[in-house]
Amino acid sequence: MNSALKKFIKEKAFQIGFDKIGFSKVSPVEEEIKKFYLSYLERNYHGEMKYLEKNVEVRFNPEKLFPEGKTIISLATNYFSHIPENSIFSRYVTKKDYHSVIRKKMEMLIESIKKEIPNLKAKIFVDEGKILEKYWAFKSGLGWIGKNTLLITEEFGSWVFLSEIIINLDVEPDLPGRDLCGECRECIEKCPVNALIDDKLLDARKCISYLTIEKRKILNSDEGKFLKKYVFGCDLCQNVCPWNKKAKIKQEEDLNFLGNFVDLSPERLRKMDEEEFKKIFSNTVISRVPFEVFKNNLNLLLKNLPHRG
Ligand code: SF4
Repeated sequence: MNSALKKFIKEKAFQIGFDKIGFSKVSPVEEEIKKFYLSYLERNYHGEMKYLEKNVEVRFNPEKLFPEGKTIISLATNYFSHIPENSIFSRYVTKKDYHSVIRKKMEMLIESIKKEIPNLKAKIFVDEGKILEKYWAFKSGLGWIGKNTLLITEEFGSWVFLSEIIINLDVEPDLPGRDLCGECRECIEKCPVNALIDDKLLDARKCISYLTIEKRKILNSDEGKFLKKYVFGCDLCQNVCPWNKKAKIKQEEDLNFLGNFVDLSPERLRKMDEEEFKKIFSNTVISRVPFEVFKNNLNLLLKNLPHRG
């Protein structure tokens, strides 16, 4: 295995702005993980994320995504920044849409490697669902999957965006992460909608993030009661995690968003029309959700916050 190459890729990744990097060998995922994933689907905890039922064999074996692939490079980018305590948005949505920002950084990394190794072939993945990214981040030693089902790093907690590059080169794999949740159950106990179940399972149908981001459908008033204080995303299980409380903060300037929608009240946002919605949220992940869905979430939120409704 080429340790000089590994060192070179790591150095370049940190120069480009990634905060953690790890390597694993392309191989089928372990049987235990397959069983866990399939039982999750059987219990219907994925709700309407039907795409999770498709291409399961590909998700279980990254060789099918890129037959020449030898090594998975897992990358983490810290996105923590301070936001108002009563924010109705989760922290990550206050950033620029990370998909394009991180993709660009990965392309830069590939270009740097290509200068040294012209026959490099690579495939990029940023939150595409084709690859079990938290599993590979764990295998590559970036951290562990916590009881809140998120990847937790020792340095940056769970405030990280994950991404992967599969390359056609052999690089020495890293050791997997160590589970450091211990006896802690804060996230399970503090989730206001009981979406977290023991065994690192999340019932997405109750989860505020799923309802406001993934579902992309008009919610009914019963579902609206689950929103608590959020209109898009949720940070509650992350805010209580001791690893997040002591996480390092590294401002990633490329992700900084200059808009000020975080300071706008839900009452003010409710007055916006579609044109204003597009203007306010362009370049953010919120723009991926239909205007009617977002507006309905706002109405439900205000209805369930009687002092504001
Ligand atoms: Fe693990 Fe506690 Fe963090 Fe939950 S809150 S992910 S149990 S350390």
